[in-house]
Amino acid sequence: MPLEKTQAIVLRVIEFSESSCVVTLFTRDFGKVGALAKGARRPKSAFDSALDLLSVCRIVFLPKSSEALDLLTEARLERRFRLAGRSLPCLYAGYYVAELLNELTHEHDPHPELFDAAVQALAGLDQPGAAPLPWVVRFELTSLQILGHLPSLEVCVECGSAVEPTARVAFGLTAGGVLCANCRPGQRHVVTIGGGTLRVMQCYSEKSGQTWQRLQLDAPTRAELRGVLGQYIAHLMGRPPRMQAYLPLLASEAMPPPPA
Ligand SMILES: [Zn+2]
Repeated sequence: MPLEKTQAIVLRVIEFSESSCVVTLFTRDFGKVGALAKGARRPKSAFDSALDLLSVCRIVFLPKSSEALDLLTEARLERRFRLAGRSLPCLYAGYYVAELLNELTHEHDPHPELFDAAVQALAGLDQPGAAPLPWVVRFELTSLQILGHLPSLEVCVECGSAVEPTARVAFGLTAGGVLCANCRPGQRHVVTIGGGTLRVMQCYSEKSGQTWQRLQLDAPTRAELRGVLGQYIAHLMGRPPRMQAYLPLLASEAMPPPPA
């Protein structure tokens, strides 16, 4: 197989031997890739210092035909996010973006628009004074949409009738979206959410437009939003994401800390 070139976000780096690493990358053109980076731990390697968690780099790799790891031959750093220097919630949010990319996608299943959405989220989190919650929610709903898992937010997921965002709305975690009064009985794993929270989710999942960036969310809405999205994604993955335990921090954070 010929050498391939693409952009990649570093999702995971595991030391493999004294000189090498195994990296998990989310590439723009080939989806998730697990690759061996020989000599990556030596100074002055072909990877320089590009293989750090959440770095965006331009890579050259040799895809393997079988179950074997691909071989990374080159990585050049394009962008490093300084989330740790912003705030701890921004750093956790960045790790969560990486975890979702790793858990919700399959190897060699390309989604260029998901790559772009992830870079946009990491760049958003990297802005001085960034509030992490909006970027996390936007990335969650965008990635669910791209991967075909966006819950039904306007019509009943069972019968397709319109569901108005009234005081409380039934949301089926297994069914995959809102439920009308007729379809709710007998459904398993149903939570209820406020109509306001549902409208916020609709706004955040709009493909175009930047309205979501202007929404002001009160504390109960932030908490409910985290609650329902957290449960829905855990349901989808079959277990809660590891970083989920750190995300309530985002919901409780009214204002971001001042930039350092
Ligand atoms: Zn229905």
